[in-house]
Amino acid sequence: MKRTAPVLKNETYDVDITDLTYQGMGVAKIDDFPIFIEDALPTENVTMKVIKVKKNFAFGKVIKINQKSADRVELVDKAYTQTGIAPLQHLKYDAQLEFKRHQIEEDFNKLKIDVQVDPTIGMDKPYEYRNKAQIPVRLINGKLQTGFYRKHSHDLVPIEDFYIQDPEIDKAIVVVRDILRKYRIKPYDERVNGGVIRNVMVRRGHYSHEMMIVLITRTEKLPSNKEIVTDITKALPEVKSIVQNVNPKKTNALMGKENKVLAGQSTIEDTLLGLKFEISANSFYQVNPVQTEKLYDLATKKADLTADDTVIDAYCGIGTISLSMARVAKKVYGVEIVPEAVEDAKKNAKINDIDNVEFVAGYAEDQMAKWQEDGLKPDVIVVDPPRKGLDGTLIESVVKMQPKRVVYVSCNPATLARDVKLFNEQGYQVNQPIQPVDQFPQTVHIESITVLTR
Ligand code: SAH
Repeated sequence: MKRTAPVLKNETYDVDITDLTYQGMGVAKIDDFPIFIEDALPTENVTMKVIKVKKNFAFGKVIKINQKSADRVELVDKAYTQTGIAPLQHLKYDAQLEFKRHQIEEDFNKLKIDVQVDPTIGMDKPYEYRNKAQIPVRLINGKLQTGFYRKHSHDLVPIEDFYIQDPEIDKAIVVVRDILRKYRIKPYDERVNGGVIRNVMVRRGHYSHEMMIVLITRTEKLPSNKEIVTDITKALPEVKSIVQNVNPKKTNALMGKENKVLAGQSTIEDTLLGLKFEISANSFYQVNPVQTEKLYDLATKKADLTADDTVIDAYCGIGTISLSMARVAKKVYGVEIVPEAVEDAKKNAKINDIDNVEFVAGYAEDQMAKWQEDGLKPDVIVVDPPRKGLDGTLIESVVKMQPKRVVYVSCNPATLARDVKLFNEQGYQVNQPIQPVDQFPQTVHIESITVLTR
């Protein structure tokens, strides 16, 4: 069926915004033809200019807002929308929370699965929350700059105040930027895979205030590294670890395989729910500590553990959920793909005097099958996969072990709904409301906990 778009590029139209996409774009329809418009909110009427026309949809840009939504807040800074740092900053926080709750409902409705979703648990202060930053370093008009990429591009927009990050991290990035300028370190040049410094990663313990700086370089050699380290240590007394990570390849992957500790330790420490955690440069650690405590506390409550229970924590990272649950359960098994994270998890068990845990490095898919074949009978299985969700074979292994409950911590409702469908077909049902916990205020990311029972 061939159809011609009812809109023309560069023409302007007055439209009503009727919906908000999962990426936070306003949706308008002209003759049923959808137009996606950045910075436009449902209930608004805007004059927009069409900037791109595709076969089945178009993109538009707001020229003027004719009728404002009651949920609109004035933009803090345009750069946050341009770069995607805070794509929902123009939406009132309450409305963001409802948007996320509703988005989960929609993803389940699409698959004709009936679920209830409780109101999203939000933050009192929904900004300055991130405990980690990964900042590209590039040359702009002859000057080394730190900032963020413009959306859908690799053009750097220089930024000093990142709004959603711990302000101490923002300050540290400016300090490191100035030190890199002082020693004339060449910024990475993507087009020719040249230059030295690609990214600066900063992590800061929310409770410990220990800071780690990772300098990600293309080259093995970081000129003036001794002076750089001395200057950073002098300027930032919280820094407990400075690491150089070498990533020689032309790739979008942030970090390479090789880490060199330039000063201090290879890890920093932080606490969550009263447990201590050592965190390596390559290990995953939730970015919003205040909300993470709520998330893990809830996950543990929803697991409804007794002192006789055996638990599997798949995708366990540095063992955060495992150790929280080990305080209640008889035994917890964790599996994780990043070897450094597994080393951290083992250390973390030790420093917290927890000995009823066992951590394995490997693919969750393989290890789950192995545990199943070995006859392990867990009472509860926790899964906390990356955005792509679970593999069908992993779900089969889980079901074969017949746990009483599966606690699914998800950072992507679309794959969550897809996976729940598979669980449903194999006898596991969602019998209580799904609980979203907002880990990523001002952005479109959605974290939630779902409990499946047999
Ligand atoms: N539960 C942890 C980590 C969750 S993030 C926490 O909350 O801190 C997801 C984790 O899964 C990451 O640590 C990632 O390294 C790991 N991972 C990704 N793919 C995996 C796979 N196929 N098998 C095992 N672990 C995997």
